[in-house]
Amino acid sequence: MQVTNKQVFIFLFILIFSNFKNYSQSPNIVFILTDDLGYADVGFNNGAEDIATPNLDNLAANGTIFSSAYAAHPFCGPSRAGIMTGRYPHEFGAQFNLSDADASNGVTLSETFFSTALQNEGYNTGVIGKWHLGQPDGYRPNQRGFDYFYGMLFGGHVYTTGATTGGTQYYTSPLRENENLAGEPNGLYITDLFSDKGVEFINNAETDDSDPFFLFMSYNAPHTPLQALNSDKAILTNPPYSYTYTNNNRHNYAAMVYAVDRGVKKLVDALVANGEFDNTLIVFMSDNGGKSETHQNYAGANNGLLRGDKGDTYEGGFRVPMFMHWPNQIPAGATFDYNVSALDLYPTFVNLAGGTIPAGKEIDGKNIINNVINNTNTRDGESIYSIRHRTLNNVGIRRDNLKAYSSGNGSWFLFDLNTNIGENNAEDLSTDPAYKDILEEMINDAYLWSLTNVEPDFFHSSGAATSWFNNHSNNNPSNTTLWQDITFNGFTTLSIEDIKLNQKTIGRIYPNPISESQLSIMFNEKVLDEVNVIIYDALGRTVQMEKNLSKEADKAVLTLNSNISKGNYFVKVTVGNKTFNKQLVVN
Ligand code: CA
Repeated sequence: MQVTNKQVFIFLFILIFSNFKNYSQSPNIVFILTDDLGYADVGFNNGAEDIATPNLDNLAANGTIFSSAYAAHPFCGPSRAGIMTGRYPHEFGAQFNLSDADASNGVTLSETFFSTALQNEGYNTGVIGKWHLGQPDGYRPNQRGFDYFYGMLFGGHVYTTGATTGGTQYYTSPLRENENLAGEPNGLYITDLFSDKGVEFINNAETDDSDPFFLFMSYNAPHTPLQALNSDKAILTNPPYSYTYTNNNRHNYAAMVYAVDRGVKKLVDALVANGEFDNTLIVFMSDNGGKSETHQNYAGANNGLLRGDKGDTYEGGFRVPMFMHWPNQIPAGATFDYNVSALDLYPTFVNLAGGTIPAGKEIDGKNIINNVINNTNTRDGESIYSIRHRTLNNVGIRRDNLKAYSSGNGSWFLFDLNTNIGENNAEDLSTDPAYKDILEEMINDAYLWSLTNVEPDFFHSSGAATSWFNNHSNNNPSNTTLWQDITFNGFTTLSIEDIKLNQKTIGRIYPNPISESQLSIMFNEKVLDEVNVIIYDALGRTVQMEKNLSKEADKAVLTLNSNISKGNYFVKVTVGNKTFNKQLVVN
């Protein structure tokens, strides 16, 4: 048979195309999360000139750097709840921190953590360091998908034995190993202790069996208290670095980050020694932005050109440093500029493990592995949200190159981050007629999403609880307006008068996002009343109404009308006198 040029071309095309989405299955995964690390506090992010992260920089240079990676929330607990569940924490009651004094609450057990999904795929799973997702029986690491735990259940810890807390009294509590108290580090600097435990986990995982492993290095550094080793501080002020520090907070902070970097080298060396380096996806990120000099409690961080700090919905609050490293799989020497969310890790990791999202589990993130490999957009025209509840509600909405911001007082700003990464008010586009429609779309999207938020399960302080009750809670009879209608006042065209959110989600819809027309509504228990469903588009117009769907069942199924095209919708489900609301994304 004679092979024509055309056949050769087709063969090459198939060869290239079949390579297009090809990657190995079931790699080891090492996820390194730092605590309150500023955007510019790593060398690989065009970092500050007084901080050294040579080992992180080396991994980043041989992997893909994410310039626009977002935490699900601008402070610790909700950000971490988002990572472990793949959902915005506001949707399941985890929009506040757990107090260290709170021994009775945790992130709701109705959410399956991705660690469980990896465990179900045969992964050997370990978490080392900060947990901060619940202390009671049932909520601890070994009960939520981790075979091994070493660290603290609280939001932080002192760095050296006998150090003053600088945090809560719980920061001096004994560390734990699995379900047992492990005592104090006995003179070891805690960052080094955690790194050593990580090395032990890698070595043990290789000795015990041939299963892949997942290691979550949940460093509490460089979160306060700012306690560094003098030896690390000295390294930074001597050659080859010879940095100078005018502020001791900054010097301590820089040395704390340097200690993490030294630990990352130990982890890498252990992977190499065990012959697993090439078969391991390493993901590095921070749980939220740093407290820089513009923060009222400066904690040594530097967010670079980004405006704002930890706790803000400006970029400095929740845009974080991130890279992925996986030899011959993730592009080396690349920068990925499309927007990604920490919520993407759940579906991405579970997919890489060869697993599936647990039945009925809602996911707000996306499996981004193909986007990263092929440098394609993860969410063309779709928004990433951040809402932080204060007396008012700070809101950040990132969509493509645009960022909408409100402090919650009814005024909105719109920034083009390509030309105004510092969110300078002088370059606000919100009154520019050319941006009117897209700003309204972004705000409407966030408003729709906010209607799916539920009442918090816990608060980090009585002050936060009181503020919520006074200003936001639908349980307070004097709150006659939904907080969503105050926050998004005057900018939404959607008006649904009878929406009242239930305390707990009484049901869920799946799949969501939906790519086919069949939508299921699953209830937590058998419902005796009739089920009515209304689907609204982003402008609040009814596009489908289904009455009397099912009775005496735990599930209702409907087929979307053919006029429902790709985009964001809002589903209102009424069961008897109860109502719940969900945003629905049609792909
Ligand atoms: Ca944090």
